[in-house]
Amino acid sequence: MATQLPAFMKAMVLEITNTPLVLKLVPVPVPLPEQVLIKVIACGLCRTDLHIVDEDLKHPKLPLIPGHEIIGIIVRIGERVKNVQNGDYVGVSWLGYTCGKCKYCLRGNENLCSNAEFTGYTIDGGYAEYTLANEQYCFKLTEKYGNSSAAPLLCAGLIGFRSYNMINKKAVNIGIYGFGAAAHIIIQIANYLGKHIFVFTKPGDINAQQFAANLGAFWTGDSSQSPPEKLDAAIIFAPEGSLIPKALKDTDKAGMVICGGIYMTDIPSFTYDILWEERSIHSVANLTRKDGDDFFKILTKISLTTRIISYKLSDANQALNDLRNGNIQGAAVLSIH
Ligand SMILES: [Zn+2]
Ligand SMILES: [Zn+2]
Repeated sequence: MATQLPAFMKAMVLEITNTPLVLKLVPVPVPLPEQVLIKVIACGLCRTDLHIVDEDLKHPKLPLIPGHEIIGIIVRIGERVKNVQNGDYVGVSWLGYTCGKCKYCLRGNENLCSNAEFTGYTIDGGYAEYTLANEQYCFKLTEKYGNSSAAPLLCAGLIGFRSYNMINKKAVNIGIYGFGAAAHIIIQIANYLGKHIFVFTKPGDINAQQFAANLGAFWTGDSSQSPPEKLDAAIIFAPEGSLIPKALKDTDKAGMVICGGIYMTDIPSFTYDILWEERSIHSVANLTRKDGDDFFKILTKISLTTRIISYKLSDANQALNDLRNGNIQGAAVLSIH
């Protein structure tokens, strides 16, 4: 039995890059056999959305409905869908599809799949009243997560978690450069695991430093400062290439510098001595479904809180501007149903 669904839905659409999204009435999509139709409860905003709108990331599908931090409820299923049903709460993240056949998929690196589809980039996402998702790429959620507060978990949380997991498990002193949506989630997990978190913000961003301190940061300062102790590892969430040599200088021998973002400005050249002694630099690309399973498993043990700023769907441009201008402490979310 099909739930009574409207024929049309509101969506915020990117028609041309570098222009504001346009509020449009578009047909509610129909799921293919392996897809589900999701009534969107909320969709978080991610810095990647800005990189898509601003064309730092090339060749998005156009017109495009952005958004890859989707919380919703399934309202229609395709005929071959097996593992979820109408009424289930699900989360949808950036990884929208992988081929399962390329060499990356076959060796367990589906995050690097050559034929991947990305939600809100190469396929439509969650800045809309409804969205489609491939069944295999929905994370089944308990009702506890069926609300706006959970939306940032689907990218900020997941990519932050993948970045964090790249670090040597024995690392204690961990630097975080850029204290936004991802950092405010990961600091809570790291604290639970007994790590000392050193937070670096933009120079003068006292509000972000205070926010980090309230969430249990071991030390806070700005990116022009050196930490009081050498770091075992660093995670860079801010899209500033100049933070790579800075973080290398802040790390101890064998220190790992993890770049959590999809885009960074150019990295200034640096002398070999700051990389010497087995320091390393890694980027984090996308996520795997296993990351999601592991992440939601650890969330059953931690009482994690997210700080969100809610916007109406039609205010998505305002929300993107606030994110662009650094006016958000925590995570911006479109609260839709
Ligand atoms: Zn994202
Ligand atoms: Zn593949």
